[in-house]
Amino acid sequence: MSAAGPYAERPFSEALLAAQLARLRDSEAQYRSIFENAQEGIYQTTPDGGYLRVNQALARIYGYPSPDALINELTDIAGQLYVDAESRDRFKTILETDGLVRDFEARIYRRDGAIICITENARCVRDAAGAIRYYEGTVEDITDRKRSEEEIRLLAKVFESVAEGIVLLDEAGDVQAVNPAFMTLTEAKGEDLKGKPLRLVADGLHEKDFMARALAAVREHGWWSGEMMAARADGTAFPAEISITPVRAPDGSLTHSVVKVADVSRRKQDEEHIRFHAFFDTLTRLPNRRLVLDRMEAALAAAHDHGRRGCVLFLDLDRFKAVNDTLGHAAGDELLRLVARRLRHCVRPTDTVGRLGGDEFVILVPDCGPGNIGTYVAEKVLYNMSEPFSLTGSEQFCIPSIGITYFPDDAAQVEDVLRCADAAMYHAKKGGERRYAVYTPSMGRRSAELVNLENDLRLAAARGELELHYQPKVDATTLKLVGAEALVRWRHPIHGMISPANFIPLAEETGLILSIGRWVLRTACRQLGRWRARGFDLASVSVNVSALQFTDPTFAATVQAALDETGIDPARLDLEITETAMSDDVERALNMLHTLKDMGVTLSIDDFGTGYSSLNYLKTMPIDTLKIDQSFVRDVVASAKDAAIASTIITLAHNLGFSVVAEGVETEDQAAFLRDRGCHYLQGYWISRPLRVPDFADFMAGR
Ligand code: C2E
Ligand code: MG
Ligand code: MG
Repeated sequence: MSAAGPYAERPFSEALLAAQLARLRDSEAQYRSIFENAQEGIYQTTPDGGYLRVNQALARIYGYPSPDALINELTDIAGQLYVDAESRDRFKTILETDGLVRDFEARIYRRDGAIICITENARCVRDAAGAIRYYEGTVEDITDRKRSEEEIRLLAKVFESVAEGIVLLDEAGDVQAVNPAFMTLTEAKGEDLKGKPLRLVADGLHEKDFMARALAAVREHGWWSGEMMAARADGTAFPAEISITPVRAPDGSLTHSVVKVADVSRRKQDEEHIRFHAFFDTLTRLPNRRLVLDRMEAALAAAHDHGRRGCVLFLDLDRFKAVNDTLGHAAGDELLRLVARRLRHCVRPTDTVGRLGGDEFVILVPDCGPGNIGTYVAEKVLYNMSEPFSLTGSEQFCIPSIGITYFPDDAAQVEDVLRCADAAMYHAKKGGERRYAVYTPSMGRRSAELVNLENDLRLAAARGELELHYQPKVDATTLKLVGAEALVRWRHPIHGMISPANFIPLAEETGLILSIGRWVLRTACRQLGRWRARGFDLASVSVNVSALQFTDPTFAATVQAALDETGIDPARLDLEITETAMSDDVERALNMLHTLKDMGVTLSIDDFGTGYSSLNYLKTMPIDTLKIDQSFVRDVVASAKDAAIASTIITLAHNLGFSVVAEGVETEDQAAFLRDRGCHYLQGYWISRPLRVPDFADFMAGR
């Protein structure tokens, strides 16, 4: 072999060429394989937007059946491929200035129109003169990655913005992440909680291992939730609702726990609020009927179980209705609040002061021992209530009537205890001076009867059970009939005839007297009109007016209506008003008397001598007649004292220019005595009992 040079020494040979070609083919095959089997799409494109070469992967990514199909169909990259047409310009600008692009992200249309996200790396290939020959680059489909990135971003947003506190714990139970709501909730400002165990449970309010047990439950049952007292960073506690859920790896092992914390103090407050309204009276903030009854129930049970003795005081404010009616509801409410406050001061903390409704209060002393603690409490209450209450704008007295009952002495059931206390209270109200009464069995019967009676009375007028009887009034000297007093009677379907002395007080108390009174006025006037129409010379009819009627502002109008309706001469209607009805507010009484007098009716003072009329006022009253109360008439002959009183009243009437009637005259002696002293008229059994309408007509006819 010569040493002229490699080629000289190794002349062109077929074999060598073949070997070189084989090597070249080999290498080319290797590159082609890389090109064709690459996971990334690979391409060469012309700057004007056509493809020169693409691999299988790119065809797949773009949704074409083959590289050739892609090259043939996708001829305008800017127009066909990019969703955002400017993407291609941007891509080209970067390439032309920098020579290459990296991680160029764009959204493109696949062949079927679906939009996917890709990222490209590309470079610019130039010829020796520097002119661009083509671009070549790779494409990766990053649609899935983008989607999960977006999901993560959204989840992070949720984590950041939910109202509930969220803590992510790692496998060991240490804090890995907390959201801002948790920081706000626990007021853990700027504190780094990460990597430390979660400190959420309020000290001393739960077992030490509370959280550990909750996490154990999560591992075992897959979740845990409950309410607990959580602690803020400064240690203060708040009620929280906690739920813990596990995060598991695909193999099922627990990798994290998510703790959700909600502050429920607001809800707790609402619940508390609702509870308050259910059991307390909003006006006075005292226990309401429901709670009082509950506590009574408990006290009765304890009394039974432990042989204890307790007492219940039932209070009813005597002047409350008057305050409410005259000063308005706001003043009434104010008064109730003040009463509640004073009552609370009268008892021990273990006792209950409650409001049953309206102006009814209850004091429960659950354990009072032997003796009369109830009386002691009642006296204390009365003492405290004896001072006037200063309401906005006025001072008002408001004294309760108090009924006292002991359990289990008087009763062992809540309703019975209340009934006893109520009966005793009713008794106290009637009793006058002393404002309280201790229950005795005889009261119970009366009270129950009364309740039924009240219901019956409500319906009596409508059922036509009321009737008027008339008692003659005669001239003391000539015994000539001058008038008749209308006296109401109640023919009760079961109890028979009931005396007004028995139901008028009840009618007054319940206000029913107003409607009954209207009926009496109308009926009496109409009856007088009928008799006169039949030719009986009856000068007038007297109608009794009760205190409540007399103080009712509409009373004058009621009288006028009765007169108008029946057409009788007002001078023939006489109204009998008791002294006591006028004693409450003398100025107002005077006004009312003048109003009535101006209407033309005549006025009598009934039961004169039993009240405390100021003679000074009597002088100024537009009165026609004094009626000597029958209690003085009864013993006018036998008792020097009564004789003196009766004589004095007659003299007084004479001096003031009034006429005078004696009522309850039962004997001739009484009649003679009174006539001799100058009494003008007589009324009583000696002349006649009150008579039913037909009997009264007979009586008149007989004269
Ligand atoms: P009052 O107005 O003093 O009526 C007189 C009462 O004495 C009547 O009783 C009458 O029946 C009774 N009486 C009459 N003469 C004699 C007698 O000689 N001896 C005795 N012992 N009693 C006699 P009554 O009818 O039971 O009425 C009682 C009270 O009821 C009345 O006393 C009056 O205050 C009230 N009253 C009666 N009717 C009405 C009414 O329509 N409206 C109102 N507001 N009160 C009435
Ligand atoms: Mg009378
Ligand atoms: Mg009388």
